[in-house]
Amino acid sequence: MQEILKNELSIEKSRPGRRGVRFEKAQKPADAYVPQAYLRKTAPNLPQLSEFDTVRHFTRLSQQNYSLDGQFYPLGSCTMKYNPKAYDVLSVLPGFANAHPFAPESAVQGTLELAYNLQELLKKVTGLSAFTLQPAAGAHGELTGILTARAYHDAHGGQNRTEVIVPDTAHGTNPATANMAGYTVVNIKSAPNGCVDKAALKAALSEKTAVVMLTVPNTVGLFESEIREIAELVHGVGALLYMDGANFNALIGLAKPADFGVDIMHLNLHKTFAAPHGGGGPGSGPVGAAEHVAPFLPHPMVSCVNGKYTLADNRPESHNRMKAFYGNMAVVIRGYCYLRQFDGKTLKEIAENAILNANYVRACLKGKFNAFFDRNCMHECVLTPPDPHATGVHTSDIAKRLLDYGFYAPTIYFPLIVPEALMVEPTETENKDMLDAFVAAMEKIYDEIKTDPQVVKEAPHTQPVKRIDEVSAARQPNLRW
Ligand SMILES: *Cc1c(COP(=O)(O)O)cnc(C)c1O
Repeated sequence: MQEILKNELSIEKSRPGRRGVRFEKAQKPADAYVPQAYLRKTAPNLPQLSEFDTVRHFTRLSQQNYSLDGQFYPLGSCTMKYNPKAYDVLSVLPGFANAHPFAPESAVQGTLELAYNLQELLKKVTGLSAFTLQPAAGAHGELTGILTARAYHDAHGGQNRTEVIVPDTAHGTNPATANMAGYTVVNIKSAPNGCVDKAALKAALSEKTAVVMLTVPNTVGLFESEIREIAELVHGVGALLYMDGANFNALIGLAKPADFGVDIMHLNLHKTFAAPHGGGGPGSGPVGAAEHVAPFLPHPMVSCVNGKYTLADNRPESHNRMKAFYGNMAVVIRGYCYLRQFDGKTLKEIAENAILNANYVRACLKGKFNAFFDRNCMHECVLTPPDPHATGVHTSDIAKRLLDYGFYAPTIYFPLIVPEALMVEPTETENKDMLDAFVAAMEKIYDEIKTDPQVVKEAPHTQPVKRIDEVSAARQPNLRW
């Protein structure tokens, strides 16, 4: 079809004098409000558009995007799970949204009470002794956790502990965090079953080890079934066990990390606990600690003294604060709503459904897209394409072809230890109809790989942006529009 309407930037659509809304000229000159020295001399170079131009421009852009509101979104490891609209409304109730950050504690008792109660609920679901809601993201939580571990070691004569051990199935932020905190990262390879290789761990552990960081479930979607023994080995050399619990929807209600020896962990409220994420935030990565490490968590934390909620906690060993004020409250409120809405039995069902859905997809696609580790997985499964070297059809082609069928692509080429990885996390919130539709699309793509591989290799065919020319993009990058 010949294109008549051009796909232009808003600045290209601009015509001098076009306006959305016209106001009467102000009665007083601008310098009645702003000193002359601060007034701009020339008008800003903004697009001049009518209201229709503007609304249609942004509506069209939004429709070219994939989102949870529009499509199945099986992005492994980082997917958006349950994001009820009702919590969005609650998180912006005026009493919360209009609270001034410098308001005296007596004026924000409700906000502090909610934060305190969430700390208590997170303690309950993890078994840990204390939680801070300060960190603004998962990776920020990791940094908070590692600095907390350092404060702990400093107080226990562990200044010579300079290493952090990270298995190759960890989330990429784990080694980055340890490095950023000034530690030497010691990488260990996984065993053939996709879990930590205990012999490799033993060989790496020493009195130089500060922390072992485990992603649980790990990034191949597997539970570290020997985590108790691992914790014993870690504690045996005086190190601390850190758990990356960003994807806690696989464990919530089923297991408490404190019971298997975790000393410090973070959660992602903007993954498991109902807050939407994407586009860079805001997020919330609360960090919990076992009793012996809790005094070292950053200052401040909400406590309750004689029925009053306060940030004036008295913890002299705390390693300092990680963020101005106390956490991203709008995300904290959603997490609180989530844990208040569901009782322990329902939380367990959430984890069971997350696990069931991932295993359903894995089992349905077996023989076509096999799981790299052919065993039961947790909340996500890591699939591989059928013989990419023989067919010439690679994971990126399959991801692009899925867009043609109306599905957002899974995470691809991650985790790094799985060649041509397709990492699918259906989440607990999708029903069987949607899972069956996804499986049907994957089966169709499988047939295409066998009969008409070119159609997959040239996908997407239905999207506003087709294949980019990757060679030219690398050789002759055009960095300005
Ligand atoms: C998403 C994720 C992180 C990082 O969380 P951010 O909020 O994006 O910083 C860390 N670990 C795991 C396992 C994750 O899935």
